[in-house]
Amino acid sequence: MRSKFAIGTYIDGMRSKTLKWIVLTATLLIIVIVGVQLYWLNKIYSLEQKTFNMNVVKSIRGLYEDVKLVDSPVNHLQDYIEHPSPDYFLFRTGSNYNKDSLIWYLKDELNDFDVLTDAHISFYNSGKQKYISREYITAAAARYDPVVFPFPVYERQHDYVLIYFPHRNKYVLSQMNFWFISSAVLFIVLIGLAVSLFYFYRQKFLAEIQKDFVNNFTHEFKTPLAVMKISSDVLLQEKIIQQPERLHQYAMIIQNQTMHLQKQVERLLQVAATERKELPIQKNHVSVNDLLDEAITKIQPLAVEKKASLDLQLPETENLELQADRAHLELAIVNLLENALKYAPDPKIIVSAGKENDHIFISIKDNGIGIDKKYHKRLFEKFYRVPTGDVHNVKGFGLGLSFVKRIIDAHHGVITINSIPGIGTEFKMLLPGN
Ligand code: ADP
Repeated sequence: MRSKFAIGTYIDGMRSKTLKWIVLTATLLIIVIVGVQLYWLNKIYSLEQKTFNMNVVKSIRGLYEDVKLVDSPVNHLQDYIEHPSPDYFLFRTGSNYNKDSLIWYLKDELNDFDVLTDAHISFYNSGKQKYISREYITAAAARYDPVVFPFPVYERQHDYVLIYFPHRNKYVLSQMNFWFISSAVLFIVLIGLAVSLFYFYRQKFLAEIQKDFVNNFTHEFKTPLAVMKISSDVLLQEKIIQQPERLHQYAMIIQNQTMHLQKQVERLLQVAATERKELPIQKNHVSVNDLLDEAITKIQPLAVEKKASLDLQLPETENLELQADRAHLELAIVNLLENALKYAPDPKIIVSAGKENDHIFISIKDNGIGIDKKYHKRLFEKFYRVPTGDVHNVKGFGLGLSFVKRIIDAHHGVITINSIPGIGTEFKMLLPGN
């Protein structure tokens, strides 16, 4: 049967899974929207470029109607106009035409077809095989600085006029201002949405953790209080005076439960007190052998109660020594030992220590229920408990490992976990040597 708490955790796990999916889907949607928007911007850019090219060609066609550019009648106009590269257009001319009126009409045609950017016009003479003169048409709408530019010579058998639009790209982009502004607005809205989603997720996550904590808290305190209530009821019975043994037994129960509660409250206070501050560490010379002996002595009653076997493996030849805060380090080891006992139905624990390069390792290995790899990352978070739906009666606040990690961090050490569900768990602390 699942305990109330276990079911609570199970449902919470489900809820946070749904939440994760919602956040993931929303993130994916945002990425898709951004992708589609970028695709459209690119499409519109190509379209604007095409429109620009078409308008230039239309203007040149108009020019052929306005001015007599070639001597013979024009049959296939498209053969007279070339577009060798994005910024350059050239059109064929005869050798006899009026240059001034060509410029005048070209300006007019470009204006009519909304080609409102500046242009350099060069006149190519096929006899001399070079440009014989240049003109600069300023933009009607936009003001640009004239630029010095390389004028590529396209070798042709006939004269031609080359038009170069130095600011073509800038102009095309300026035609897209509306799209840029609307995209920027969309992106800002999406960023706002993503940020709110992130905060919503975090808030919800914190709320869930808080709820878990309250659940654990209630669970942890309810049973001892109920036991104390029953015991005090017994002690209040009048005939108890005649049964000193029973009286003693129930008084002991109350005392034990009080001590248990006291311990839990102390634990909570300890965490609350060291919440934000860096853990105060007072380093002293510590013998690892003594430290482990003492930690094991502390959990001995619990080990006896659980009929656990505890094996201590230390290097025979050398005495391991450390500069560490003895009390804190002992607390860390006791916490790990308690967990090893708590999470193993028939505990067989191996405690070992030794040297690894410049470091000293302390390892606590059990044959308990193990922890799935997907939970390893979050184990050391405060209030985190593995959502084991079917293991009940294992009490705790999810504070032990977070505290152990803080202690190890304060010693500039590392703690690693190696665990296989159903086989067991090993926590290994690596601490800098002397
Ligand atoms: P708790 O008070 O719940 O024991 P801890 O921070 O000590 O809190 O441990 C966090 C969680 O990690 C536990 O709820 C348990 O699920 C898991 N855990 C810790 N140690 C072991 C272990 N030796 N074997 C299996 N699971 C463990």
